[in-house]
Amino acid sequence: MAGAVPGRAAGRAGSPAPTSREADGTVAAAAEPDRDCPRCPRLVEFRMRWRAERPDWRNAPVPSFGPADARLLIVGLAPGLQGANRTGRPFTGDYAGHLLYATLRDFGFARGTYEERPDDGLTLVDARITNAVRCVPPENKPTGAEIATCRPFLVATMATMSRLAAVVTLGRIAHDSLMTTLGWKKSAHPFGHGAVHAGTGPAGTPLTVFDSYHCSRYNTNTGVLTEAMFRSVFAAVRQHLDGR
Ligand code: SF4
Repeated sequence: MAGAVPGRAAGRAGSPAPTSREADGTVAAAAEPDRDCPRCPRLVEFRMRWRAERPDWRNAPVPSFGPADARLLIVGLAPGLQGANRTGRPFTGDYAGHLLYATLRDFGFARGTYEERPDDGLTLVDARITNAVRCVPPENKPTGAEIATCRPFLVATMATMSRLAAVVTLGRIAHDSLMTTLGWKKSAHPFGHGAVHAGTGPAGTPLTVFDSYHCSRYNTNTGVLTEAMFRSVFAAVRQHLDGR
């Protein structure tokens, strides 16, 4: 299954953010990785293997979903193999999307009906979804180096969101990567389901971070995360944004 890896590069954790040229000629950090982003050799090899196996799947970095002028950003871990890696839209195609999109809709952050496919017409309202790691990792487990290597895309994504006021982190890895992105001390802002952290965002304006356990099938099947627990996080986000 695995073959030669075009554009394969050595590990580049800590290397500068990739850039793109803006219409006005300035150079900005790119918020979306190239389809053949070469920065994580293990993940490149994995997606090339799946491109050979399933050429009908996306098998490439999954872009953020939702408007850039949203006030809310939801940060997940990474695309699921048969979910976002297959369909190309975050949390679309596997179980996690059912709970996430139903909850977003109930709290006014989404419109339409989620049908597990990117052309189902679902739209996000004042919300955007991204992942800490844009490429599918084997067994859903990115390494620390891969999380660090992909972080410039999270940094750049947040930089495009001029109205950003709240972030929901889904799981500890997303939380920790966000804390590093923001320069907030993890010891002062430890991850915990239902925890709320206040500080200053990338634009120098107030930012509130809401933690949740990840809405994976494993967490819901084992009772780590119930629907009520998940809804309580978004109820708090709604109340926070409505009170501003
Ligand atoms: S995980 Fe991010 S940095 Fe690594 S190869 Fe994919 S897009 Fe590039």
